Amino acid sequence: KPLLEVKDLKAVIAETGQEILKGVNLVVNEGEVHAIMGKNGSGKSTFSKVLVGHPHYEVTGGSVIFKGENLLDMEPEDRSLAGLFMSFQSPVEIPGVSNSDFLNMAYNARRRKLALPELGPIEFYAYLFPKLELVNMKSDFLNRNVNEGFSGGERKRNEILQLAVLEADLSVLDEIDSGLDVDALQDVAKAVNGLLTPKKSVLMVTHYRRLLEFIKPAFVHIMEDGRIIKTGDIEIVSLLEKEGYKAMSTS
Ligand code: ADP
Ligand code: MG
Ligand code: MG
Repeated sequence: KPLLEVKDLKAVIAETGQEILKGVNLVVNEGEVHAIMGKNGSGKSTFSKVLVGHPHYEVTGGSVIFKGENLLDMEPEDRSLAGLFMSFQSPVEIPGVSNSDFLNMAYNARRRKLALPELGPIEFYAYLFPKLELVNMKSDFLNRNVNEGFSGGERKRNEILQLAVLEADLSVLDEIDSGLDVDALQDVAKAVNGLLTPKKSVLMVTHYRRLLEFIKPAFVHIMEDGRIIKTGDIEIVSLLEKEGYKAMSTS
């Protein structure tokens, strides 16, 4: 069953009108893991941000259907309530809000949307602790303000915790692997693999193949100049290693 259907998606930088996405086509079904790879500057982050409704970009053509609804019509917050999660390349600091409160609020917002009862702090902790263990995070992180004074590695780990807690239907991970050592990568993989059910899907955006050794995607897409120019299985990653992105190019 299709979860995300992207058809001929075109987008420009709002401020300058420069076209970055030049017709992206992609279908992600429930339960599937997809990876988008491509050279730096090919439009991978732009695509992820357009999906979550980042204001720097303006959609100029095409359509995005998420769970049967027009995603492009929704406010960013409603996209997240609808079950779309995105990890950001540079996550924001939220002064004055502790991590656990933030996670509890975000989780409850989603539960309200699903017409499920909200979890109070004690119930939420019971839900949260196994997740902390899953991503190898110390519990004192929970009392710190969101991302405030976190090291690069701690921010990443925090993103992974958010991913594990929110259990979104589609999690978009933009270079969640950048700057991570192998131990942290394995924790990312555990969190992602622990999240996968026959209904939940993951779209990983990466410049490197390393992550794909830990989280095996069924589909790998190569992006170039604002389009997906090739789709295959994990085998095309080996081809990529051997022959480079040039071998994929159609132009
Ligand atoms: P990738 O994630 O594949 O490295 P990006 O989506 O970050 O690629 O960028 C695609 C192209 O769009 C690059 O040439 C980048 O410089 C440009 N770009 C993206 N966002 C902006 C922006 N807000 N302002 C100016 N240029 C941008
Ligand atoms: Mg980049
Ligand atoms: Mg990028």
